Amino acid sequence: MREFVTSNTQVKPVSSDWSVWFRYTYGVAGERFLREMTQNGKLVGSACPQCKRSFLPPSLYCEDCFAEMGEYKPIVGEGTVDTFTVLHESLEETRLDKSIVIAFVKFDGVSGGWLAPLTGVSADKVRIGMKVKPVFAKDKKSIQALTWSPA
Ligand SMILES: [Zn+2]
Repeated sequence: MREFVTSNTQVKPVSSDWSVWFRYTYGVAGERFLREMTQNGKLVGSACPQCKRSFLPPSLYCEDCFAEMGEYKPIVGEGTVDTFTVLHESLEETRLDKSIVIAFVKFDGVSGGWLAPLTGVSADKVRIGMKVKPVFAKDKKSIQALTWSPA
């Protein structure tokens, strides 16, 4: 017999040390994306050889025509803030000394976009349509290496 929790009042907290570990991989295209970002300071997307669309982040297969995309191409030039949010609290629900702007940025001719912190501008000055450029931190080896800066 299976039981389902239908209300959060039925949940019983269990405290313990659970020795569970996992390894997460970005996949082939995501790995290339991360490597280009952290080792070469580049933003790359994938290009479809069949329909010629470009995608950010890159993926192995075109979402339109399902063609395999083995070509990675640099995403260059200025991006455009498509949407953004302003964080005033940390994940621990404490007030931040300084607000953090997180912006989803798109590039002309590229499907998709990327979400990263936008620095170098106060939160009240950020606008949808604002032009930004990627900035890569050399000392970070994760997706946190990328932030946006006003162009
Ligand atoms: Zn395609």
